Amino acid sequence: MPKVKRIPQRQCVGCREMRDKKTLLRVVKSPEGDVSLDFKGKKPGRGAYVCPSPDCLKRARKTRALERALSVTIPAEVYDAMEAEIIAAAPKGGNDATA
Ligand SMILES: [Zn+2]
Repeated sequence: MPKVKRIPQRQCVGCREMRDKKTLLRVVKSPEGDVSLDFKGKKPGRGAYVCPSPDCLKRARKTRALERALSVTIPAEVYDAMEAEIIAAAPKGGNDATA
């Protein structure tokens, strides 16, 4: 029997789809209560996951799913900054995040 590798799955707070943890972007609330993107998955604090797509972040913003997941109020400028970071981190010239 081949060894079955269990891939940890997490739910995107935007589209609510279960995806491989590795393909998702972690959003973390620091012990101080600041919310930021965690591209390396190493920041301390409580985390939630979202697809690396501005659309999923926008959806999570609209439904407040991210705020519920982290039990925190997220100011508009933090959402804007996270959105800009996701766009900046996305590969240029193509968007296959919603494939
Ligand atoms: Zn999503």
